[in-house]
Amino acid sequence: MGIFIDQTGYLPASRKVATTTFPCNFQLIDSTTQHAVYDGVSTDSGMDESAGEQVYQLDFSKVNAPGRYYVLAGNGERSHTFVIGEHVYEQLQLDLMKCFYFQRCGCALTSEYAGEYTHAACHTEDAVFLEDYMNQTPDPPHFDMTGGWHDAGDFGRYISPAAVAVGHLLYAYELFPESFQASLHIPESGNLLPDILNECLYELKWMLKMQADNGGVYHKLTSFVHADFLMPEEDKLPFLIYPVSTMTTADFAASMALASRVYAPFDKAFSTQALEASRKAFAYMESHPYIGFHNPEGSNTGEYDDDCDIDERLWASAELLRTDTAHRDTYLKAFEKYSSMTHPEVSKTDFGWTDVSGMATLCLLTDPGNTCGATRKREYEQILFTEADRLIELQKKSGFELSMQPEDFVWGSNMVVCNRSMLLILASLCSEGDTASRYREAALNQLHYLLGRNALDISYVTGEGEHAFKNPHNRPTACDEIDLPMPGWVSGGPFKTPCDPAAIAAVPAGTAPMKCYVDDVGSYSTNEITIYWNSPAVFMTAFFNRTI
Ligand SMILES: [Zn+2]
Repeated sequence: MGIFIDQTGYLPASRKVATTTFPCNFQLIDSTTQHAVYDGVSTDSGMDESAGEQVYQLDFSKVNAPGRYYVLAGNGERSHTFVIGEHVYEQLQLDLMKCFYFQRCGCALTSEYAGEYTHAACHTEDAVFLEDYMNQTPDPPHFDMTGGWHDAGDFGRYISPAAVAVGHLLYAYELFPESFQASLHIPESGNLLPDILNECLYELKWMLKMQADNGGVYHKLTSFVHADFLMPEEDKLPFLIYPVSTMTTADFAASMALASRVYAPFDKAFSTQALEASRKAFAYMESHPYIGFHNPEGSNTGEYDDDCDIDERLWASAELLRTDTAHRDTYLKAFEKYSSMTHPEVSKTDFGWTDVSGMATLCLLTDPGNTCGATRKREYEQILFTEADRLIELQKKSGFELSMQPEDFVWGSNMVVCNRSMLLILASLCSEGDTASRYREAALNQLHYLLGRNALDISYVTGEGEHAFKNPHNRPTACDEIDLPMPGWVSGGPFKTPCDPAAIAAVPAGTAPMKCYVDDVGSYSTNEITIYWNSPAVFMTAFFNRTI
C-alpha cells in the first residue's frame, strides 16, 4: 500500500501525478484548512515491471494554487505532505550544493559555515608515490597534494569522478547562471565569484596538483586501503599518488578547458592556468595510447577502472575545440577522429564517469559558436533526440513515469535517474514549443522519483520530505554522533543485485529492482553518497529553478 508522491512538491504549472498500488477515488487536501480542493479517480497503469506491482496514477495537475497539500484516498490512506509553489526546489538546490563544502579535505569545517557538522582539518600530510610506498623506499619524495573534495563515503580523491562532478556543476552554472545567485554561506562567500564557482575552485586547485610535469594526470590520491569508520581528521593512513591513466588525463583536459571558459570573466589568471594545464594534458593524451588502471594486489580503494578511454578523449577534444579557438584545427582533427570511433561505452548521451561522451554532446550543442560545424551538430542532435525519445517511451511504460527499466537499477541507480534527466533537459534546451515542454516534463518526472514518487515511498535526498533517507554510508555522518545527516545528500539508491552484507540481509532474493534498497549506514552498494551523484541533481534543480 502507499501513495507515492514527490515529497518536496511540484511547480504550479507542471503536471502533478502520484502513484498508488490500489485503485481509488481521491481528494487533494489543503493541509492548512483541511479542505478538499480537488476530487479525482485513479487510472490504471498496469504492472510496473521495475516495482513488481500493479500500480495506478492519481492526477491532480489542475491544482495550481500555491500551498501545502496531501492526497487522501477513499480508503482513508494519505500521502506525505508536499508543497505546490514557484520556489519549491530552491532550498533543495542549495542543500545539494552545500554538500560539496562538507566534503572539503585539508581544512577544518568550522561552526560558522558547517553548523553542527564541524571537524578539524584532515589529511594535511604530504603524499608519496604508490611505488615508493610499496617498495618502502627510504626518504621517498613527498608532495603537497592537499585539498579537493572527499569523493564519497570514503576519504579518497579521484580525478575522473572529480572531473565529472565539476563538469556537471560548471555546465549548470554556464547554462543557468540565474539559478546560482544565492549565497552558500561558505568561507569565500561575498567575494566576486558566484559561490558555485568558489566551491568548484576548491576542487579544481587540488586537481591541478595532480598533473605530472609531462602533462599526464595521476589516477587517484587515496590510502592503500580504505580507512575504518572514523572522523576524517582521525584518519592517519598515508596518502598515496597512484599512476597516470589516459582516462583521467583526458577527463582533466576536458574539465580544465571548461573551467578556463567559465572562470574567464572572473579570474583571468586562473582561467589561463586552467587552459595551459588542459593543453598539456591533451598533448600527453594525444601522444599516448590507452593507459588503464587497476589497483595493485591488496589495495581496495575505489578503482574507477575503465577499459575504454575514447569517450574521455572525445570530451577533451570537444571542450578544447570550443574553448581554445587559437588551435581549432588540432582539436577539430582529434574530435573528428574520436567522434568516428564506436564502442559500447561511447553512447554520446551519458554523463557518468564510465561514459562521459554525453558531456561532449552537451558541450557542442550548447556552444553558441557552433564550433563543431553544422553537419556534426545535426548528427549529435539526432543522437540526442533519439535517446530522449527512447527515454520518453520508457516513461509511458512506467507506472511511476520513470525512464528506467528493471536492468537499469545498477549500483548508483539514482545517478542513472539524474543523468537521464540531464539528457532530457538538454533535449528540451535544443528544441522549441510543445516538444521542448514534453522533454522538460519528462526530465521533471525523474526528479519526482528521486524525491519520493517511487515504490519505497522514500525521498533519496537527506532532509527533503517527510520520509527522507537518514543513514548514508558516509564516514563523517556515521561517526559525528549527530542524529541526522546534513541535508542535501543523494543516495546511490536501489541496486538490483545488492552486494553488501547490510543490503543482502535486508533485501530478500527476488525483490523487484526498484525495491532493492536499505537505508542502512553499512549498505555501501545501495546507500552511499558521492560528489557525482549530487552534481547531476544540482544540474537538474538549477534548470527547474530558472526564473525565465
Ligand atoms: Zn580529508
